[in-house]
Amino acid sequence: MDANLRYLQGACFFCLAKTNKTWCDHCEHDFILDRPQCPICARKSSSGNPCGSCLKHQPFFTKTEVLFNYQYPGNHLIKAFKFNSRPELAKNFAKKLAHKLNAEPLPNALIPVPLHKHRQQERGYNQSLEFASCLGNLLGITVNTSLCRRIIDTERQSSLPMKTRKNNVKDAFKLRYTKPFDYVVIVDDVVTTGSTVNEIAYLLKKSGCRRVDVWAIARTQF
Ligand SMILES: [Zn+2]
Ligand SMILES: [Zn+2]
Repeated sequence: MDANLRYLQGACFFCLAKTNKTWCDHCEHDFILDRPQCPICARKSSSGNPCGSCLKHQPFFTKTEVLFNYQYPGNHLIKAFKFNSRPELAKNFAKKLAHKLNAEPLPNALIPVPLHKHRQQERGYNQSLEFASCLGNLLGITVNTSLCRRIIDTERQSSLPMKTRKNNVKDAFKLRYTKPFDYVVIVDDVVTTGSTVNEIAYLLKKSGCRRVDVWAIARTQF
């Protein structure tokens, strides 16, 4: 295992200090996001106003909530979560995000970004679904896995150059029925360009949803 992905019971994931939590309070300051961000897409925005990209091409989702930027050291947590199947991390992420949401109105359903069935079989689980299930339990929101399907096994977004990522997700998803919910939240593990969640948000809006938001563990900053 990568030395950076070590995980010891009773020790902070990052600094190995003794703690009964996954990471200690000191390390949390280094990666949990508390800087001003674009309220729509969660990119850095020093003013806290919508970023240039969202003003130019308004996404189909209204708001994005993320816990941290996908950069050192938080990205190591995501890697441990994704590739070493650490369900206890999903619970930790969910608790932190639920706390951050605080007084927000809650959606009618959570929709985890689906994996193609081949990818799901290969990996054994869908990390976005793990995260969504923990959030659903904590907040009392239904997790819906039947509405949205990934019908094309698109290549892993992370292995593609930025330019081709956007077109890659077009037509990759399909909804099984229309007029599903009034207000839904798409749950993803890491938001990169935002094109995947925007494609799903587009389909949800087209099918009659009034509002679609995005909740994710982390976001890359481009
Ligand atoms: Zn620590
Ligand atoms: Zn933005």
